[in-house]
Amino acid sequence: MSLPDPESPLSPGEAEALVAQAVDAGRLERGPGERLGANLRVEAVREAVLQGAHASKLAAKGDIVTVSRNIFIPLTNLCRDRCTYCTFAKPPDSPEAKTYEVDEVAEVVRGGVLTGCIEALMCLGDKPEVAYRSQREWLAARGYQSTTDHLVEACQVAVEGGMLPHTNAGILDEEELARLRPYNASMGLMLETTSPRMRDKGMPHMHCPDKDPQVRIRMHEHAGEQKIPFTTGMLLGIGENVGERVDTLLVMRDLQDRYGHIQEAIIQPFHPKPGTPMRAASPLRDEEVAGWVALARLCLGPDMNIQAPPNLAPLSGHDGVLELLLRSGLNDWGGVSPVTVDFINPEAPWPALRELRRRTEAAGQRLLERLPVYPETVQQERFFDPHMWEKLPRYANDAGYARSSKNDNSQSGEEAA
Ligand code: SF4
Repeated sequence: MSLPDPESPLSPGEAEALVAQAVDAGRLERGPGERLGANLRVEAVREAVLQGAHASKLAAKGDIVTVSRNIFIPLTNLCRDRCTYCTFAKPPDSPEAKTYEVDEVAEVVRGGVLTGCIEALMCLGDKPEVAYRSQREWLAARGYQSTTDHLVEACQVAVEGGMLPHTNAGILDEEELARLRPYNASMGLMLETTSPRMRDKGMPHMHCPDKDPQVRIRMHEHAGEQKIPFTTGMLLGIGENVGERVDTLLVMRDLQDRYGHIQEAIIQPFHPKPGTPMRAASPLRDEEVAGWVALARLCLGPDMNIQAPPNLAPLSGHDGVLELLLRSGLNDWGGVSPVTVDFINPEAPWPALRELRRRTEAAGQRLLERLPVYPETVQQERFFDPHMWEKLPRYANDAGYARSSKNDNSQSGEEAA
């Protein structure tokens, strides 16, 4: 028997049946996933997907949506890769190139603690010292042999300063992951896409050895072997097709099935940025982004934490986009900072936590603050180095959410202002 062409039109009734099957099974398989994905532009199909995803989320997560109050520390914005959509990475001779001194890290951490933040998000370019002699010299002058040496110390400083680091430093090998684990509550790497085509000539990852999908999958596996609570994610709209998006989601699911360490999947739309080779590329429409958030929920199942960043979707001018996302099956807004900007997407300000809470509640859901790790993970000792495990009760309440926040009926930081 031949399978239906994924591109063939779906009637609303057929879409509803495929969605109902996926909700019942707790997972959406490749064939129906591709058919639904290829038809997301049809409003009735998209609505069926959104409704199924939202019902699945409500059944497993109730009315809770989480957020992490964080500070963003771009430890270095030098990077050996050259993704054609990126404005974060700077060459060493740019006036905007910057690598943080450890004292500067400590200062940002102090600001985070004062405003009630728990998560210190360490986000940085990938192995800049491999590409740039000046960066090797910068590191050597401070006694470091690699960016990872510097990063380990920065994480130690953040922990000592009273915060919980979450590191996303690009590709790290097994030894580097093991060195960082004692000083990180969780770590992450956007899988972005499993499509090897993105590394072809003229494609966004042509000059990016660290964007080889197999290399990224391997790092997810190493993190799984070391029981590191791990954040993954898919980047939408850099040239991948529907089948490749579904494949990316299924690879995430397979990693979770094998290791159980995938704590969340971020569904992040690409935005064209001025000055980049992809400045004229068309991003996905908000409705399609919401459709893919919903398909992620259906593919990855009711228990996965699905995140869509609230500062990225609204750029395309859709006033009700947060509300649209709130009925697409997500249960997390990611990190929101009252202190620092989103250095990856500086053009997209985070909504104030107060505003995020108001709109989440207006949509009939509740906003709770979490740590960099999710409540269900916080309570599992096997996921933490003893050094980190003993620190967690200071930050988590009995249910595993963040202490000293609205969760415990006290105001702090931005919301008290
Ligand atoms: S790896 Fe990350 S920081 Fe480096 S160029 Fe690509 S998107 Fe930018």
